[in-house]
Amino acid sequence: MQSVDNIYYELMKELVFASNNKHKLAEVRAILAPFINIISLNDLNCFDEIPETANTLEGNALIKAKYIYDKFGLDCFADDTGLEVEALGGEPGVFSARYAGEANSAVENMNKVLKLLGNNNNRTASFRTVIALIQANNTTFFEGKIEGDISNKPCGKTGFGYDPIFIPKGYSESFAQLSADEKIKISHRALAINNLISFLKIMIG
Ligand code: IMP
Repeated sequence: MQSVDNIYYELMKELVFASNNKHKLAEVRAILAPFINIISLNDLNCFDEIPETANTLEGNALIKAKYIYDKFGLDCFADDTGLEVEALGGEPGVFSARYAGEANSAVENMNKVLKLLGNNNNRTASFRTVIALIQANNTTFFEGKIEGDISNKPCGKTGFGYDPIFIPKGYSESFAQLSADEKIKISHRALAINNLISFLKIMIG
């Protein structure tokens, strides 16, 4: 008789991650590799620019997952992440990718946040990731959030996006100064993925 773990492995051994962001893919694979083989859009030869037109993280995660599910008919999940800065009323939030313009430049986006914050003492911020999972036409959402502060200037070279200006709570270094392994232990994306893993395990008992 097959053990529950074996059945779990058989059922869940492949899942498409609807992203072509190589940094995200590496983080997702690092966490999910023991459980699930992650198929990237690259593996599917899909290089479509999926329009992210919703005004919430949930909405954009769903658009991406549904686009791939409808096109390939494969169970898949997508994430959308935003940096939410308290003193900026939660911005850049859902506009994180193109906060400083269509170029989607990480340096320009960070500079805009730093400029708008100026000398403001309230530098509280959080990263929030929402995952939309579509399996057999059913959609489930998962969230992961990490609190922290915006630094006074970019520091560090690892990671991507806003990592150089985000100092997670309890740390004195930015995400971009932590190793990839350290970031994966605590990040918003890791928390959301762990919720996804728990759900997949519960689903099959
Ligand atoms: P999206 O989830 O790809 O739409 O990401 C929106 C924006 O947030 C992009 O500009 C990313 O660079 C940035 N971003 C997403 N995840 C992270 C992260 O883990 N660290 C830093 N920036 C991120």
